[in-house]
Amino acid sequence: MTRSIAGLAHVETPLIYSEPFSKHLGAEVYLKLDLLQPSGSFKLRGIGQTVKEAAEAGAKCIVSSSGGNAGLAAAYAARSFALPCTVVLPSSTPQSVQQRLAFYGAEVLVHGDVWDEADRRARVVVQEQKGAYVHPFDQPSTWKGHATLVEELKRQMPAEPDAIVTCVGGGGLLMGILQGVEAVGWQCPVIACETLGASCLHSSLQAQELVTLPAITSIAKSLGALRPSKAVFEKCRQLGADQFQSLVYSDQQALKACLSLADEHRLLVEPACGAALCAVTQRAEALQGATRVVVELCGGAVVTSAQLAEWARHHS
Ligand SMILES: *Cc1c(COP(=O)(O)O)cnc(C)c1O
Repeated sequence: MTRSIAGLAHVETPLIYSEPFSKHLGAEVYLKLDLLQPSGSFKLRGIGQTVKEAAEAGAKCIVSSSGGNAGLAAAYAARSFALPCTVVLPSSTPQSVQQRLAFYGAEVLVHGDVWDEADRRARVVVQEQKGAYVHPFDQPSTWKGHATLVEELKRQMPAEPDAIVTCVGGGGLLMGILQGVEAVGWQCPVIACETLGASCLHSSLQAQELVTLPAITSIAKSLGALRPSKAVFEKCRQLGADQFQSLVYSDQQALKACLSLADEHRLLVEPACGAALCAVTQRAEALQGATRVVVELCGGAVVTSAQLAEWARHHS
């Protein structure tokens, strides 16, 4: 079993200076390698914190209904804190995800055909087993855990960056970064990237009210929240352009960024993560004049080299 920072589920991840992406952007580009978290994504930071607090509060088990990186992080973190974990999934969930969850010691319950049904069941299991429900992105304890990545950046960076770039699904990672930036006293803007077909935060900010997307049509499924966190939306709309910017890229651009990352640095990430790297590969206007840029490589375990290659065939 991987041992990590005392009392935490996640590990401190390296920050590397990227020679090729720096050359491309014409500024120093640093990559925060959160894809190296043992569960495969940054989610272990925040969900690890939530599970830790649940354990301290006497929860008897952890319950999740995510068949993605949040479920994997919940299962991994629960094992780290010696709590049983139940993940309730719809029948449509791939066998590979069920296997990986079972590998982390989670009990996998298949319930219903769609996620809503599985989630309703999960909330019943919470009551029955005196457990703690872990939300994929909308919990203050989770934001607190995500903020640890900025504390690490503060120690790892040669100086304050001119921008931190991240991707956005429901907004948990973004909220953690915004809170982390405040906590370490940095002034730099946070650039938040989404893909077309999963851009619930961008759409909400444009409409100046919470928008619910009719469907997720992007291949970046880990960005696939239909509606952003209300707290994150409210936070972002209060920030000026010198503190926050929201960008949207195509699936094709996100995919191309994933392939560049694989070729240049031999790292494999989901298109969700590729979306953030697009700010660099597409030379975003928001990064013009910047000297130092950090890209949060949030990772994602739901990708294989074969899947990337197949997407590339369809999207070229
Ligand atoms: C969950 C996830 C996201 C989105 O995070 P939010 O906190 O929902 O904004 C992005 N990329 C990956 C790989 C994820 O697992």
